[in-house]
Amino acid sequence: MPLRANLHVHSQRSDGSFSIDDIVDEAIRGGLDAVAITDHFETQKVRRCVTSESIDEYLREIGEARRRVDGRIRVLAGVEIDTNPERCPIPSLPVEKLNQLDLVLFEYVNDEYNGGCSVFELDPLLSRLSVPCGLVHTDLEKAFGGISPEDLANLLQSYGLFVEANTAALYARNGRQYYEHAERHFRAFKGKVRVSVGTDAHRTLTEVSNVAKGYRFLEEMHLLDDQVLR
Ligand SMILES: [Zn+2]
Repeated sequence: MPLRANLHVHSQRSDGSFSIDDIVDEAIRGGLDAVAITDHFETQKVRRCVTSESIDEYLREIGEARRRVDGRIRVLAGVEIDTNPERCPIPSLPVEKLNQLDLVLFEYVNDEYNGGCSVFELDPLLSRLSVPCGLVHTDLEKAFGGISPEDLANLLQSYGLFVEANTAALYARNGRQYYEHAERHFRAFKGKVRVSVGTDAHRTLTEVSNVAKGYRFLEEMHLLDDQVLR
């Protein structure tokens, strides 16, 4: 059976309402195979976030949660990086620390409205990161609508970036999720660009295991075997 994972959840370490243990317990209850804690990192966008100073403690806490559940679910450590350079010091991020994580998420890439930088501008950081890196809650049709699905797949493949299908209500327009608007792009990802499902859970615990619609979409796109986590 294909793996079912939620690779995008916020805890009290940034702007989420629940502890890491609460999140992991809910993920087990919901039958997930894996859950990634992905709090905001070094951004002024939120009042509290993981920092270069606190990342060791963050890793320790996630490690403790992992040991506590003793293999009943995979517990991954990640962060979400805001690519708006006015809020996040991208050139001075601690690469060696970030490489101790299991994954790094990037938000607002190529998103003019939110001031995010381009994939090209992220290259100096991406080229030094050895862990899986992905674009999250990206409105592909808006951010990359100017290039063909084939060219986008080739571009993302060349940077080794995965792409998330984000199920949060915030990341929809005209009643459809961003990923649903981008079907033609996801279809071109097959065999080239890896994918994930993330719910971006913050304040509703049941959202942690609410991955079903994201997985239905991946199945329709024939991408269940192209998940970043396997
Ligand atoms: Zn997030």
